Amino acid sequence: MLDLVAAAPRSARPGDELVSKLQTICGRENVFSEPEDLLVFEYDAGFDRHPPSAVVVPGTAEEVAEVVRAAREAGLPVVPRGAGTGLSGGTVACGGAIVVATSRLRRILDIDVEGRAALVEPGVVNGHLNDAARRSGLFFAPDPASQRCSTIGGNIGTNAGGPHALRYGSVVDHVLGVEMVLADGTIASFGGRAPDLPGYDAVPLIVGSEGTLGIVTKAWVRLLPLPEDVRTALALFRDVETGARAASAIIGAGIVPAAMEMLDRTTMQALNAAFDAHLPDDAGSLLLVEVEGQAEDCADEIGRIAAICSAEGGSGLRVAADAAERELLWKARKLGYPALARIKPNNYLHDAVVPRTKLPAVLRAVNEIAQRYGYVTANMFHIGDGNLHPILLFDARTEPIERVMEASAEILKVAIAAGGTLSGEHGIGLEKNEFMRWVFTEDDLGAMRRARDAFDPDGVMNPGKIMPGGGACDDIPTERIKRGLAEGMWV
Ligand SMILES: Cc1cc2nc3c(=O)[nH]c(=O)nc-3n(C[C@H](O)[C@H](O)[C@H](O)COP(=O)(O)OP(=O)(O)OC[C@H]3O[C@@H](n4cnc5c(N)ncnc54)[C@H](O)[C@@H]3O)c2cc1C
Repeated sequence: MLDLVAAAPRSARPGDELVSKLQTICGRENVFSEPEDLLVFEYDAGFDRHPPSAVVVPGTAEEVAEVVRAAREAGLPVVPRGAGTGLSGGTVACGGAIVVATSRLRRILDIDVEGRAALVEPGVVNGHLNDAARRSGLFFAPDPASQRCSTIGGNIGTNAGGPHALRYGSVVDHVLGVEMVLADGTIASFGGRAPDLPGYDAVPLIVGSEGTLGIVTKAWVRLLPLPEDVRTALALFRDVETGARAASAIIGAGIVPAAMEMLDRTTMQALNAAFDAHLPDDAGSLLLVEVEGQAEDCADEIGRIAAICSAEGGSGLRVAADAAERELLWKARKLGYPALARIKPNNYLHDAVVPRTKLPAVLRAVNEIAQRYGYVTANMFHIGDGNLHPILLFDARTEPIERVMEASAEILKVAIAAGGTLSGEHGIGLEKNEFMRWVFTEDDLGAMRRARDAFDPDGVMNPGKIMPGGGACDDIPTERIKRGLAEGMWV
């Protein structure tokens, strides 16, 4: 059985000359190179791990640029890192990279209330930007469930989504421009405040590029006015299929909720066990629907949603009377993930997207796969946009990771066969790079590689991520297992 910690490769320590150069650039206290200091930078919230050669925490874009030049001279790649909450191994330091952590780049430089935009450094936490924007009646719409700790740089890196992506889109719809340190250590800007900038619009290419094109050092992001009213409703259904039918009927009726989330029976039972949530044990699914806008429209829409849920067999309908009750309804969704740790200590959280109409069939297939492999599975997901999050629960101390990865590859295959794709919001990183061949042709991948090469011809920035092959991460055992699975299960 593969022991992930024991199997993680060890990086050679960087030479004293490089360490002292990095210390000169960023300050002695902002450079880490002792093995015990590097341990927590080996991994993110995913599975893969590899120690960096060193971790630096620069305080300015100029320092980031100097670090990139120093790494280049030493022949080492560079990996940008925000809060490390990524779920696809995007911050794993393949090739003994130098990790550039953005935790000191955390200033909100401007909130332009009239222009409804903010200029921020990449280490600003999403929730902190929102707290600041709310004081001016504005908000930053992308709301990953990790928003209390994940950073704007990481959100840009992964093109993060969240419950409200159904109405507002994901991060790519909210970034106006970025300043970025490129692989040669120069600083370039793309996009900006002015509408219709001339030249190529590189911003949508940079958002979601997972640190493979450069290190974002500043970002102009769009802020939206807070809605006049928000209404939230919760309904229970006998199973996932009936809940999914109600969700489709809501969209079919021409309502676009701000968010529409589903929890399955396993998750509800875990919530009851962990947090005394008082959810009925016999319900098969819980649908949480939120609408935002003018008060009159919200009242009308929430009434129609309640009627649709009843017509589709929903029960236990509850509409939050005020903000405090709304918070309480969302608590069930937000605490679902930690509650699952009551069942098993480890989990593999998936992120495939499928057409909403295919959800019931795909969920059935996911549960069949999990059962065949002997795993408990929980589902807690953004049903409105078909972003599935099946979670395989297991105990890494006694259950082999290889089998979890095999079951996971089967789940991905089912989602793709249903017309879906590999990732809705978590990114490809290391976790799914080999499976890119399942959804793109060699010509597609070749065009993507050439786009990447235009920014980084020598593969200095976050090597081994997104694109299959390449060899940069070959010493990571899980990488080899995935490659075998991707080849063995070719669709
Ligand atoms: C409990 C939990 C819930 C989550 N819920 C959601 C959710 O609802 N929606 C969602 O989309 N994700 C979710 N995630 C995943 C994760 O939080 C997001 O992917 C988030 O955007 C990562 O931000 P981070 O600051 O932790 O970035 P990191 O994990 O540090 O980095 C993520 C990627 O971005 C790159 N990167 C980081 N900073 C920069 C930079 N300055 N310039 C260029 N590239 C950079 C990294 O190299 C890496 O490839 C969740 C994770 C957890 C643990």
